[in-house]
Formats: sequence, structure tokens, C-alpha cells
Amino acid sequence: MDLSDSREEAEFRLKARKWLERNRPTMADRGFALPIDPESIRTLRDWQRRLYDEGYLGIAWPAEYGGQGKTIIESAIFNEEMARVRAPAPLNELGLSMGGPTILEHGTEEQKQRFVKKILTCEEVWCQGFSEPGSGSDLAALGTRATLQGDEFVVNGQKLWTSLGHIADWCMLLVRTDQNAPKHRGISYLLVDMHSPGITVQPLKQMTGEAEFNQMFFEEVRVPRANLLGPLNGGWGVAITTLMNERATLSLATVMRFRNTFEDLAELARHALRSGACSLRAAQVRQTLAQFYVDVESMKYLAYRNFSRLKRGGTPGPEGSISKVLWSELNQRMNEFALELQGPRAVLAVGPGETVDAGRWQYGWLRSRGNTIEEGTSEIQRGIIAERLLGLPKGY
Ligand SMILES: Cc1cc2nc3c(=O)[nH]c(=O)nc-3n(C[C@H](O)[C@H](O)[C@H](O)COP(=O)(O)OP(=O)(O)OC[C@H]3O[C@@H](n4cnc5c(N)ncnc54)[C@H](O)[C@@H]3O)c2cc1C
Repeated sequence: MDLSDSREEAEFRLKARKWLERNRPTMADRGFALPIDPESIRTLRDWQRRLYDEGYLGIAWPAEYGGQGKTIIESAIFNEEMARVRAPAPLNELGLSMGGPTILEHGTEEQKQRFVKKILTCEEVWCQGFSEPGSGSDLAALGTRATLQGDEFVVNGQKLWTSLGHIADWCMLLVRTDQNAPKHRGISYLLVDMHSPGITVQPLKQMTGEAEFNQMFFEEVRVPRANLLGPLNGGWGVAITTLMNERATLSLATVMRFRNTFEDLAELARHALRSGACSLRAAQVRQTLAQFYVDVESMKYLAYRNFSRLKRGGTPGPEGSISKVLWSELNQRMNEFALELQGPRAVLAVGPGETVDAGRWQYGWLRSRGNTIEEGTSEIQRGIIAERLLGLPKGY
């Protein structure tokens, strides 16, 4: 395929780049982590609103639901420019990447009218209530129950590791609505108002010391039947749409972010010392950097392939699992190598702003551990690649 910009696309890119350079908020690079402190949350909420007002959010979403009704090419160009200028992601990341696309695909007209625009404007922030104690990789084993009583579901149970649950207004909630059906066939997908009585949210601290995620308890929570997304007991198919969108994170914009990290690593190597000399004199350092470069290039071509599939009108498929394994493991290796380059100084990190590179690589190294767990572990992704892409038999 021809990946060069047409004249109109090039003009759009230039206009977006100039606007982003003038308007992007300056914030510390937190890699793929979500915001947690009130000031970052305020800044990113405001940032999302400005992006929306300028016509830069929901670029390829239908105009009747608040989107811009443009093509996914313009959307990809804009995201690439966001990454190029190192602009932070907007606050409602989960709503934009998963909630919106799932509602657009499976929602009723009323649901699309009610929810989609407010996801874009950040009037309503979303979280994803899928995992539970004992039900992560084996998601279909989930035990949170919803019983239909008249026009309402009554929900009881517990969810775990819910990112942004503490600030969310709405939740994509998977519940069991038929106890007797085979496990994949008794699940429904509810859109739940997080301000409903009976919901308790408790933040959980990660090894970074921050609490991006939470555990959530549901006690007799009432959810209108109108908030059922997709068919009753047919929630598994709807959840797959959410998961495919979640794993389709390897876009050209992600590649650009990795290129930025690669350049920062090369810069670090230029200043780091090995046996009293510039670290770049060591063959092992040069070879490791060269391998990272190759990895980022292969990510780029994989992203092109995913992109051409989407451009032809397809939806994200199991190929997202290859992307997930690649980016999550590369992010871990890059952060670890940065600490290796810093040598003994690496342990001096005590907090952002108090050490070399403001503790960025230390923070990145700790946070990147979660990359191979969140959105489905590397083992699960490799299982999907084996079965659904390579056609290998189940190994168990
Ligand atoms: C930072 C972060 C943010 C998260 N945010 C959210 C969120 O917003 N919403 C949400 O719902 N969840 C979220 N999660 C949860 C995440 O989806 C789960 O942690 C993940 O799916 C793994 O489930 P588990 O923790 O129950 O581990 P388990 O499923 O118990 O797995 C334990 C180990 O066994 C391995 N394993 C399990 N089954 C198999 C198998 N069949 N074959 C080979 N190996 C296997 C796994 O790979 C893993 O190494 C988040 C997790 C993290 C780390």
C-alpha cells in the first residue's frame, strides 16, 4: 500500500502539528501509566476538552454521535503527531479506546446517543470492570451476579484491578446472568453508573507506590435494564470487542512513542560511562541499541499491517496479540537497559525530580512489570497467537 500522505493529508498533518506544538500541556513522561494525582487529572481532563473543541477527538467516529465523521487515516495522522510532540494521552483513555468503540458496535440508538459524545468531551470518565479475584486470564469464570428484577438488574460481587475506578463515572461491567448456562453463555455486559448506591471503591497500591487501579464491591446495586449492552447472556461477544480494541494498541502512534524512547536511550548511552569511557564504545551497548532499533522498525511494519486491515473496513482481530507481546516486552527491556546504562547511579533514584533523568527510567522499569499482565498476560497472548493465528491445537 502507499503510505505517503496525499496533499490534503499533508496539510492536515502540518496544521495538527502546529496546533499541538502550541497547545500541548507539559507533563513528566509517565510512559503508559494512567494519571493518579489530582493535578494531572485536572490537566488531562482540560486537555481532552481542548482536543475535542478543536475537532481532534473522535476523528473517525460518526458525526451524529459527536465524532468528526472523518477517515481513520486522519485519525492515525493526528495520533502520530500527538506522539511526535510527546503530548500526553487525554484523561478518558479507556472510554476512548474501548468503551466508545464497543458502544458504537453493539449499542442501541438510545445508548449511542446517551453515551458516546460524553466519552469524547470527558464529561463522563469510564473504567473497565472485567477482572475478579480468581477470574483474570480465565475471564469467563467471573462470579459477579446480576439478577433481573422487573426493569432492573440487581448486581452483587467484586471486581479487581479496575484502572481509574476511583475517578470513573461509568463502568463497562461483566456480570453473570445465568448460573446454569456454560460459562461463556451466561454472561451479560452492563453499563453501570459508578455513582449508584452500593458501590465501594478501594484503591490498590502498585509497586511504583501509586494506585492506578482499585478493588470494587457491588452490593445490591440497581442497574436499569436499558443499560444492558448487546443481548442478555450474550455479553461474551461484546466483551471480545472491548478486548480486541484494548489489544489493538499498537498503532503508528505507539511506534512513534517507542522511537522517542529509543532516542532518549541513545542520548543516555552517549552520556553514560563504561570503564571511564563513553558507553557507546562498548560493542554490547551498540548491539543492544541496534536490536531495539530493529524491534521498533518491526513494530512499525506490524502497525502498517494492522492499519491497512482497519482501512479496508475491518475490525481489530487476534493480530492485536502479536502487538501486545511485542510492545509490552520491548518496553520492559528498554527500561531495564536504561538502568544498566546508569550503572550504580541507578539505585540513587528516590523519587521524581530527585535523581538522574528525574527518576524516569526507575519509574518506567517498575511500571513496565505490569505491561505483560494488563490487557491479558504474555502467556495468554501467546496462546491466542498459537491457536487463532497459527492454527495450532490447544496445548492443554
Ligand atoms: C496495571 C494493570 C492494570 C489493570 N487494569 C485492569 C482494568 O482496568 N480492568 C480489568 O478488568 N482488569 C485490569 N487488570 C487485570 C488484568 O487484566 C489481569 O491481571 C490479567 O488478565 C491476569 O489475570 P490475573 O491477575 O487474575 O492472573 P491469573 O489469570 O491468575 O494468571 C496468573 C499466571 O498464570 C498464567 N496463566 C493463567 N492461565 C494460563 C493459561 N491458560 N496458559 C498459560 N499461562 C496461564 C498467567 O499468564 C499468569 O502468569 C489490570 C492489571 C494490571 C497489572
